[in-house]
Amino acid sequence: MEDTIFGKIARGEIPTDFVYEDEHAVAFHDLDPKAPTHILVIPREPIVSLADATAVDSALLGHLMMVCAIVAAQEGLEENGYRVVTNIGAEGGQSVFHLHLHILGGRQMAWPPG
Ligand code: 5GP
Repeated sequence: MEDTIFGKIARGEIPTDFVYEDEHAVAFHDLDPKAPTHILVIPREPIVSLADATAVDSALLGHLMMVCAIVAAQEGLEENGYRVVTNIGAEGGQSVFHLHLHILGGRQMAWPPG
């Protein structure tokens, strides 16, 4: 896959304040937040999107979900709730082609999403 801004962030080539990091994943605030709390969780390994993941990535995908739960708790979102979403491809609204999970919280979410 082509390198992306998130690949550079994950490799530490763009200085970024991580709210969480481990061997497999990093989390950081979205540049253009769509909610009072808007954090992105990405794998260090470059995977384009969920559609490009394979069975080999199963443990990593589960880990990314766990990281979302850890970060949401860390940010105080557990009590009122929050949303985790990943956009896939053009119609899914994906704009950065390095898999990422959005954690959105701090306001009432609408359903269905736009
Ligand atoms: P997508 O539309 O691909 O699901 O989400 C990409 C997200 O990345 C958007 O919410 C956008 O605001 C955010 N974003 C794009 N470029 C950067 C960047 O350089 N730094 C950070 N922190 N967020 C970014």
